[in-house]
Amino acid sequence: MSVHRYPQPSGRSRRLWRFHGGVHLPDRKALSNTRPPLRAELPGRLILPLQQHIGEAAEPLVKAGDRVLKGQLIGRPRSYVSAALHAPTSGRVTAIEDHPVPHPSGLSAPCILIEPDGEERWAELPEPMPDFGTRDPAEIRERIRWAGIVGLGGAAFPASVKLNPGRPIHTLILNGAECEPYITCDDLLMRGRPEAILEGIPILLHLTGAERCLIGIEDNKPEAIRALYEAARGDERIEVVRIPTLYPSGGEKQLIYVLTGKEVPSNGLPADIGMVCHNVGTAAAIADAVLRGRPLISRLVTVTGGGVAQPGNFEALIGTPVADLIRQAGGYTGRGDRLVLGGPMMGFALSDDGIPLHKAGNCLLLPTPEEAPDPGSALACIRCGRCAEACPVNLLPQQLYWFARAKDLDRVQDFNLFDCIECACCAQVCPSHIPLVQYYRYAKTEIWERERERRQAEHARRRHEARQARLERLERERQARLRKKKAALAKPPAKGDDPRKAAIEAAKRRAAEKRAALAAQGKTPRNTENLTPAQRRQVEAAEARRAAAAGSDTQE
Ligand code: SF4
Ligand code: SF4
Repeated sequence: MSVHRYPQPSGRSRRLWRFHGGVHLPDRKALSNTRPPLRAELPGRLILPLQQHIGEAAEPLVKAGDRVLKGQLIGRPRSYVSAALHAPTSGRVTAIEDHPVPHPSGLSAPCILIEPDGEERWAELPEPMPDFGTRDPAEIRERIRWAGIVGLGGAAFPASVKLNPGRPIHTLILNGAECEPYITCDDLLMRGRPEAILEGIPILLHLTGAERCLIGIEDNKPEAIRALYEAARGDERIEVVRIPTLYPSGGEKQLIYVLTGKEVPSNGLPADIGMVCHNVGTAAAIADAVLRGRPLISRLVTVTGGGVAQPGNFEALIGTPVADLIRQAGGYTGRGDRLVLGGPMMGFALSDDGIPLHKAGNCLLLPTPEEAPDPGSALACIRCGRCAEACPVNLLPQQLYWFARAKDLDRVQDFNLFDCIECACCAQVCPSHIPLVQYYRYAKTEIWERERERRQAEHARRRHEARQARLERLERERQARLRKKKAALAKPPAKGDDPRKAAIEAAKRRAAEKRAALAAQGKTPRNTENLTPAQRRQVEAAEARRAAAAGSDTQE
């Protein structure tokens, strides 16, 4: 890592920093950047994956048979880290079903399928916010969230989340480096619509509270540098910075380091050092959403490589099948030996061309065998250390490889696997052609899976404990009720508690009083009142017999 001075569009030089490692690659950008972008034709059908961003998939708001308008919300974000989805044109929803999606796994996932009606009728859009500077940032973030805007540099992280860093931010970084070979969509956006990017900057400054904006662009894009420099002239807050071409300068942490000399901590975020970084295309999309109420329904995509007849860039609707874009780029030449989504370093192969373009899709690459020769079978690691020299994150790729291969998932994390940005610099220089990044991706997936299982187990344990606690509480409450009941039974009944019992008690009391009164008169209580005449006669007869018996006793 070192500091040096570098010539800038202003004619003066500026201090820049050089990150560790990196590789110089043939950029092959001239294949696709010599003509302005074309508007892609409306396809016969659009395929819109509900999951085309980092986070939770969108929840569909339409069903098969529904008619939709251009820009209509058709999927709402399920959670904070999620993104809304909109109909890219007017038409009819034909199905919501699983369809192959752009993902390294090649698997299918739920998609909304729309048959365009060709009318391009717009839905009613939210009111523009030209007064965004006086509005609460939370309100503007909500607009961005419901416009479905995600990072367009390839990461597809929901932009509204990134714009809520929760920490003081002093510098906004706009990433115009576009360091991967072949890809030119950002280059053409910066050249052709610099004002669209600059419209987004005041919004981003307002949202983050940053005082300044640095736009980093590699020096293999002189037209883009000139266009943005001219457009931003006079705005003291914005600096367009020309940086050396070195892969991967466009990595978020690498670009921040090149421009400021500040390192984002391991496992940390740019916000930890007071910075937020967005792609130039994302800034333009944010301006569209805030200033015109327009959701994200299209993007610029590069279609390139020796495998297509007329490489170029297209403004294409999200959901356009890859085959449609290749057809509009002149079709297959027959020389391409695979289809890649993204660039040659960080992209992944697509299984077929029926897969749709999604929001993160910046490039469709069809390299010929000459452009991307088969490295052949991997050989044994010879411990040459070249991978470590090339790693821009200062990792030890060789150690990561050994531990990933041995499935030692703890050790691979000890060696900061999750700082690896999968740039493939290590694999690029490896003389043994070891597919190092595949090992790292495998290890990451295993760790995520293990973590997911651990979270599930933890969740199950918490649920079990909560159930036990609830049962114990119910038992305690039942016991308390029982004790209360017993205590209530043991207590003498209060007057009026039970009318029947009270009557018996009153009768007993009256009898006791009567006996006491008779005893006071020296009489023995007799149970001879209220007798029927027959009973009385029987009593009198008994008394006569008792008196006669008493008289004979006396005479004896
Ligand atoms: S570059 Fe390849 S061969 Fe050399 S140490 Fe790294 S993994 Fe091993
Ligand atoms: S892929 Fe990972 S380990 Fe390899 S050079 Fe890039 S950051 Fe380093």
